[in-house]
Amino acid sequence: MFKFASRVSTKLKPICAVWELTLKCNSKCIHCGSNAGEKRPGELNNEEALNLVRELKSCGFKGVALMGGEPLLRSDWFEIANEVKKNNLELSIVTNGLTLKENIHKIKSLGTDCVSISLDAGTEKVHDYLRGVSGSFSKVIEALNILERTAIPTSIITSVSKINLKEIDKIKKMIIDRNIAWQIQVSTPIGRFPKKLMIDRTEFYNLASYIANTVKKYGYKRVPLIGAHCLGHYSRFIPNLGLSPWIGCQAGKTILGIQCNGNIKGCLTLPDSFIEGNIREEKLSIILKRLRMKTLEPRGYCQKCDVLESCMGGCLGTALAVNEFEYPYCLRAIENEHFLTKFPLTSKVDTIFSKIKNYYEGLSKI
Ligand code: SF4
Ligand code: SF4
Repeated sequence: MFKFASRVSTKLKPICAVWELTLKCNSKCIHCGSNAGEKRPGELNNEEALNLVRELKSCGFKGVALMGGEPLLRSDWFEIANEVKKNNLELSIVTNGLTLKENIHKIKSLGTDCVSISLDAGTEKVHDYLRGVSGSFSKVIEALNILERTAIPTSIITSVSKINLKEIDKIKKMIIDRNIAWQIQVSTPIGRFPKKLMIDRTEFYNLASYIANTVKKYGYKRVPLIGAHCLGHYSRFIPNLGLSPWIGCQAGKTILGIQCNGNIKGCLTLPDSFIEGNIREEKLSIILKRLRMKTLEPRGYCQKCDVLESCMGGCLGTALAVNEFEYPYCLRAIENEHFLTKFPLTSKVDTIFSKIKNYYEGLSKI
């Protein structure tokens, strides 16, 4: 049984609110973490959604990422997105790309700061299989071409499982030199994704090495590739894969998750036991004030990890989903199975070196 420790986050510095605009979706992804498809009961109405944008602004957020389900399926998505821009918040839209073509003029007219499209394979067969809709791959390719022509900052998000691990290099070939940012994340057993399809720890380590090697070989200009929060931290050999130094899970600190029924969590990847309130019942500012960041008591390897104090156990969402703290999906933990030193001085130097490395490798990408 897991033990939860709660603590009040006294220094909440909001940056990005990730907002599930609707749970309705026109894809049927095997790896969907929110089990999307139908609308969620009690989704916020138009007035509630517009008020929430204004509340996010007054609470100090800098940007809003609209996602789903499929956000472009919500009939008033444009009005909500427009309110985001009217309030001088950065606007990102995370979409499966299926309806991008018919929405591109609206997206452009908003001055959207970034469109993120899911691309899970370099071949039609595998992408369409993972997304559960035939024709998805060609729609995404078309969407990327349209975005390139309209010069809207674009990124792709690839969620990696055993099914598409071999597709990663094909994706790289598709986006190289196109100024398309690329984020790789690991599919974890939340929503409807079955645990048996999650990559194993060796594949996990190889994936992280692939990201690091690709960046080293091509540089960020040619392949602007990063690993998401779930991709492990404080490796001795693999550089920090994120855009900034890893300072521990940011759920409820700089990141906020909003479900389409108004429920508030530190991060949308966390289970519903992490819901901290609902904006229909309380003002967002009140929920934020008492927002607790729940963390698992460090267990297994994390408990005795030399960088626990800085790392805080990695991505909380992944840790909860994987549920295997004895053997976390973590680069350092994997390495320590082979390299753990028993000499106190060497250990101390190693720890300090890892912390400095994590900090400067992050900074050098900014
Ligand atoms: S073992 Fe745990 S605390 Fe240590 S680096 Fe990995 S995730 Fe972080
Ligand atoms: S739970 Fe994971 S994805 Fe969410 S903020 Fe924490 S580290 Fe990032």
